[in-house]
Amino acid sequence: MHNIKLNIKNIQKNIADTLNQAGRTDEVTLIGVTKTVSSEMAAEALDSGVLDLGENKVQELNKKYEVLGKKARWHLIGTLQTNKVKYIINKTTLIHSLDRLSLAEEIDKRAGQNNIVVDCLIQVNISLEDTKHGLLKEDVPLFIKEVSKKFKNIKVRGLMGMAPFEENPEDARPYFREMKALFENIKSLNLENVDLKYLSMGMTNDYRVAIEEGSNMVRVGTAIFGERNYD
Ligand SMILES: *Cc1c(COP(=O)(O)O)cnc(C)c1O
Repeated sequence: MHNIKLNIKNIQKNIADTLNQAGRTDEVTLIGVTKTVSSEMAAEALDSGVLDLGENKVQELNKKYEVLGKKARWHLIGTLQTNKVKYIINKTTLIHSLDRLSLAEEIDKRAGQNNIVVDCLIQVNISLEDTKHGLLKEDVPLFIKEVSKKFKNIKVRGLMGMAPFEENPEDARPYFREMKALFENIKSLNLENVDLKYLSMGMTNDYRVAIEEGSNMVRVGTAIFGERNYD
């Protein structure tokens, strides 16, 4: 038995408590990460008030979109191949994984064909692990400048990052702090066509620490739906 409703209640309470303790009065968006879970379970999360759902694969997002459609706000949180942009272009609320100009060019082109502006986060490789995608911290400001100047059908709305997995979530804190500093630094540049609002960081193991360090968007899978089964 899974207890999606109860799990979500607990997480929402943890988020509220953490915000309180940090003296914050703003809000954190909880994204339910539904990769590998059924559409029925995703629907249960929606019924429990989690309206933002995250998928890391285009095909899986599309499968659930066919069932749930616009009842959910869809977040593409995984690596996005350029040739798959066309399948999700008018479905996402937010693409979290913009990390290269070739991808920006394709998103801009498809968005233009659909007459929409697509909200994106820039993925930052904060942990410097080979397996993690994303731009190096020092390359982010110039990348955002270029995207916002060249691609009018893309709106950069913030940053996304992943800390390395640590047994002790305390050890992820320095990475989150670095992300927040970068976020504030870029905001202070007041770039044209850029409206930084979202700092997407924190997962099951470390979302509380991420919120303490300034995250306002957490992506939580396991703590809602249980351990994933990849077969
Ligand atoms: C799977 C995934 C998550 C959620 O991970 P959990 O540890 O299950 O909460 C968050 N972000 C990304 C990019 C993911 O791929």
